[in-house]
Amino acid sequence: MKSHHRCPKCSGRKIWVVEKYRVPGEAAEGRELPVIPHQGGTGAASFLLGRLNPIGSFDLFVCDGCGYSELYASGFRELKADPQRGVRLLDTSDTNEGPFR
Ligand SMILES: [Zn+2]
Repeated sequence: MKSHHRCPKCSGRKIWVVEKYRVPGEAAEGRELPVIPHQGGTGAASFLLGRLNPIGSFDLFVCDGCGYSELYASGFRELKADPQRGVRLLDTSDTNEGPFR
């Protein structure tokens, strides 16, 4: 949808784009929805205060015809795997190698 500007469900060609998708927050315009709101910080202050470091944002693509929606993340290169908090990277990029190709 992002690259072809066409809905994969109904083939609609009118697509709404909402950059840096927001959710309600203290400010009137809300706050950006991060990819992960709870990644631990690295500085001394974050260690002492238990402060967490939100990472990334989403652009929302919505089909005007049927409402089908897709979210595309950006700014997530700083993500760190933290399985205890439910953050994992599934990397199958090497699975095409070997005897079961
Ligand atoms: Zn559609």
